[in-house]
Amino acid sequence: MNKRHDSGVRAVAAHVTDAAGADTAPWTPGSWQRRPALQQPIYDDPIELARAGAHLAELPPLVTSWEVLALKDAVAEAQEGKRFLLQGGDCAESFADCTSPVISNRLKVLLQMSLVLVHGLKKPVLRVGRFAGQYAKPRSADNEVRDGVSLPSFRGDVVNSQEFTATARRPDPQRLIQAHAHSALTMNFVRALIDGGFADLRHPEYWDLAWVEHSPLAAEYRKMVAGISDSLHFMETLAGPIASFSKVDFFTSHEALLLHYEQALTRQVPRNPGWFNLSTHFPWIGMRTAALDGAHVEYFRGIRNPVAVKIGPSVTADQLLPLIDVLDPHAEPGRLTLIHRMGQAKIADALPPLLEAVKREGRRVLWVADPMHGNTEGTSNGHKTRRFDNIRGELDQAFDIHAAAGTRLGGVHLELTGEDVTECIGGARDLKEGDLDRAYKSMVDPRLNYEQSLELAMLIVRKSTG
Ligand code: PEP
Ligand code: MN
Repeated sequence: MNKRHDSGVRAVAAHVTDAAGADTAPWTPGSWQRRPALQQPIYDDPIELARAGAHLAELPPLVTSWEVLALKDAVAEAQEGKRFLLQGGDCAESFADCTSPVISNRLKVLLQMSLVLVHGLKKPVLRVGRFAGQYAKPRSADNEVRDGVSLPSFRGDVVNSQEFTATARRPDPQRLIQAHAHSALTMNFVRALIDGGFADLRHPEYWDLAWVEHSPLAAEYRKMVAGISDSLHFMETLAGPIASFSKVDFFTSHEALLLHYEQALTRQVPRNPGWFNLSTHFPWIGMRTAALDGAHVEYFRGIRNPVAVKIGPSVTADQLLPLIDVLDPHAEPGRLTLIHRMGQAKIADALPPLLEAVKREGRRVLWVADPMHGNTEGTSNGHKTRRFDNIRGELDQAFDIHAAAGTRLGGVHLELTGEDVTECIGGARDLKEGDLDRAYKSMVDPRLNYEQSLELAMLIVRKSTG
């Protein structure tokens, strides 16, 4: 154990003592309530909230402890460079999009991207969806004002509804139960699809690749897809239908923002000691709620799941290192993932000092790039968008910066959908600002569409194989 690590552990103990007053208060699933909890809705009826929480605490969990521990092992392998993490899905899931086509198309594009990555990077891909629970959103203001009327901001379907009326915007505790139910429906369908083995995954010749013609890299892309087809057919000829392809691992993740919800799904199980968040395999802390003294860090330090934290451009090494000490006090393999989301204009300055500091302290983390959230911009007609070139630009830089620092970029975190939406500008079809009105469906942030997602996967392979 290194010196910094020792002092970190002491700092945690002291910190708990301070926050709790005189006595050393231990962690419990509800100990976060002693800390400032940012980005929480204001419920107007505490009894109704307590009842919903108690109901939720009785309902079965969405994942199991052994799946969570298997994921932790897989993240540990990714930390060693033996796997690459692909994490993706909606910015915000909605109850209305809990439908067969939306779920299956999203799963399909993620699986197709993962095949491109497996083939190109020549290593297993760890697949993690941003789904089956991604229902809570941080907002820049508690209230939204329209024409002089002020109502609570929309905080995601687990809290309230998007429509701008007092009834719709009221934080409703019943939505905690509905979110759990919609997560379970999503999870059930994803598990069934994967068990059934998405047939056309084995046949890249059936993928929708019309967009490839619009890319200057068309020939290279076609070769890549033909290569994937050939290897799949070759393996099938040798070994018969590929059992492992109908049994791909798929894990779930969401931003564990709404702590009443997460607390109710934090459980102990008979054979694995400790507490698990069983609402998802892989919860993360968002950029706005990652304060060392805050409620989210307090909650996360006590669960056994692998956990991730989003790191923005204003985070300094002096802030990051204590956070690592608190979240991973025992330097446990697979425990901690850091997702940097700097923006293509800031990553070159903001990332290297963090990589250097973590490396210098000998801390093991999985570094993941989120090239979406630092590259959001507004358009003249009021849409939020992201330029494909900026997303790609941040990713390219991330690979280069890690290479220069002697660290490893072990995965990507993307906002995407399997639908043909027009939310991000650019890509092979060169979507323009004027195209955004055609099919802009996101409730919050702009997502890569089917084509842009697949194109980005191919560009990742191109970049990392040189
Ligand atoms: C998100 O992932 O949708 C999000 C809000 O990200 P961040 O916390 O990085 O801003
Ligand atoms: Mn988002």
